[in-house]
Amino acid sequence: MTSSERKLLLEGSQLLGIQINNEQADTFLKYMETLLEWNKRINITSITDTKQFIIKHFLDSLSCIMSFNFSNREKVIDIGTGGGFPGIPIKIMMPETKLTLLDSTRKRIIFLEALIEELKLHDVLLIHGRAEDYGKESLYREQYDVAVSRAVAPLKILYEYCLPFVKEGGIFIAQKSADVETELREGERALKILGGQVEQKIDIELPFGGGGRSIIIVRKINKTPNKYPRRVGIPQKRPL
Ligand code: SAM
Repeated sequence: MTSSERKLLLEGSQLLGIQINNEQADTFLKYMETLLEWNKRINITSITDTKQFIIKHFLDSLSCIMSFNFSNREKVIDIGTGGGFPGIPIKIMMPETKLTLLDSTRKRIIFLEALIEELKLHDVLLIHGRAEDYGKESLYREQYDVAVSRAVAPLKILYEYCLPFVKEGGIFIAQKSADVETELREGERALKILGGQVEQKIDIELPFGGGGRSIIIVRKINKTPNKYPRRVGIPQKRPL
């Protein structure tokens, strides 16, 4: 990271109310370098300009932290994590978090394996697979304090992917673009069936003109009925 990139990251996070120390900034630097290097061989992100990378990947992921008072001890799962967003930035900022990263694309999981070693992160479990399959397995079902997801599916589908992983009383954080009203309305039925309730919608503006975002915080108020998630592809084909 050049000094101007470091400055952008530090100033941007400060604008979000988050303090990043030097060691954490170094880790973010290594993360960006490693990802952009791998990105030459496998498709992980379309954002290759470092300034935009910091704003659209790092600061956007960090906005997830400012929206929720993490204790640094939570068990967190990132569903459809891709290149590790927002899961890895959460882990860099809160190293005691027990993190699971789930993605259906094998190449991205192989990248994440190398990344975790490079960044020397501990307590990170990588799963290559579909949310619909793992959400049914007792090792993962209703085991997490927090599920997070960014840029994976519309809410009515995403709820079925994510809520089965969340413990009763836990939360699901969906990172969305600004105009989320229709999605929220269309997701109401699914939410009711799956045991969730929207607790908060936080609208933010990313620093440096990164655009508006909505963070949807859902509380799991009831257990998810056993028949959900339905089998692979069905939540997308026939949303609840
Ligand atoms: N969350 C990352 C981000 O914001 O940069 C990646 C977003 S990318 C557009 C969507 C990712 O979700 C892809 O890596 C894809 O493989 C994964 N995905 C989509 N549907 C999935 C499912 N049902 N189970 C697991 N992963 C899924």
